[in-house]
Amino acid sequence: MADILPVVTPAIERLWAEIDRRGDELVQTVAELVRFPSVLGDEAAAQAYVADHLRDSGLETEVWDLDESLKELPNAGDSGVLFAGRPNVAGTLRGAGSGQSLILNGHIDVVSPEPVAAWTVDPWGGEIVGDRLYGRGAYDMKSGDALNMLLPRFLRDAGIGLRGDVVVQSVIEEECTGNGALDASLRYPADAALVTEPTGGNFTRAHVGVLWFRVALAGVSWHAMQAWKGVNAISKAVPIIQALEALDARLNAQPVHPAFAGIEHPINLNIGVIRGGDWPSTVPGACELHCRLSLYPGQTVAETRTEIERSIAEAAAADPWLRDHPPVVTYDGFGSAGSEVSMDEPAVTLLSAWHQSVFGAPMRPVSGTGINDMRYFNFRGIPSGCYGAGGANAHAADEWLDIPSMVPAAKVLGAFMLDWCGVGE
Ligand SMILES: [Zn+2]
Repeated sequence: MADILPVVTPAIERLWAEIDRRGDELVQTVAELVRFPSVLGDEAAAQAYVADHLRDSGLETEVWDLDESLKELPNAGDSGVLFAGRPNVAGTLRGAGSGQSLILNGHIDVVSPEPVAAWTVDPWGGEIVGDRLYGRGAYDMKSGDALNMLLPRFLRDAGIGLRGDVVVQSVIEEECTGNGALDASLRYPADAALVTEPTGGNFTRAHVGVLWFRVALAGVSWHAMQAWKGVNAISKAVPIIQALEALDARLNAQPVHPAFAGIEHPINLNIGVIRGGDWPSTVPGACELHCRLSLYPGQTVAETRTEIERSIAEAAAADPWLRDHPPVVTYDGFGSAGSEVSMDEPAVTLLSAWHQSVFGAPMRPVSGTGINDMRYFNFRGIPSGCYGAGGANAHAADEWLDIPSMVPAAKVLGAFMLDWCGVGE
């Protein structure tokens, strides 16, 4: 922790005044983004809005579709949806030279609001009630997208030039693969990257990797009047489920990664979907489990897949039917390792100092038991963590952004940006 607070230069004072004056614009931009239902496959309209906004701010803006071959790279995934027509967007605010560069990254995709009946407001309405802006993505993470988009605009309007480049990225598929950030991390080099996920003023310095997998079980369909003549694929899933639960317990009994010390049950295997059968009077001939498992930073996707397959194979070996008809394991969606960044990285200590300056309290490091896009920058040697606004109910009904958290987050990020990239003439 920096004992000496950083110096608030005249340029930083001007930027902060601009942020104070235009807090409403930050919030309105989040609301406009929320009104685009940018779930997987429907990101295009929101990305067009972002690209226009970046161009209007004078950024050199690129809009590009990802190449399908990206799905074969290490730590990529496959969402099952083709990339064409749902691009990544990036805008570069060109510095005058000789400064450090910075990426501000955010994802445009949001998870489904289902079940919509559980919401008390329209998930795509961007409705403001008191200090809260409601909507799917208002918090995770169109709050961060708006911060990324408006900081360069505020700089321009305050007449402040930078020495290093700032690259604003709006990427797809954070919620299912990470492919958008993977591609962006390969396209743009930088000296540091901040992912403006809504951390409530904390700093995400480590997070788990995640992989998704399916287990397909075959049975034998038969009329239920002679159910004993068939093989019930749903019943055959039971020992597999038990084996996966035992794997979860075993993984949590291993030595805890230091960044996750004190976190309850850091590794989580979730059996998220089960599909099997189609008629009460038919013995189900097929059943499929769709699961998610996390892994510590430093552990690989390959070794975790081996653990999963070994657990399933052991359970199958104990059942005569499954021994002869082994469950088939396949992988889709996330297939990525986790990452961590040192709290001693110069970019992290500088961000921490500006957090202390704005909030009058230390920036708290946290470790995520979910995955986020910072990993791809860390994999490339670009130090990266998450820092952003506050709120609640990500991936749940009545997701909301804490409106008063936006201006202080913008001030920390803005001062950090000027200090990191340097102010030009
Ligand atoms: Zn997010």
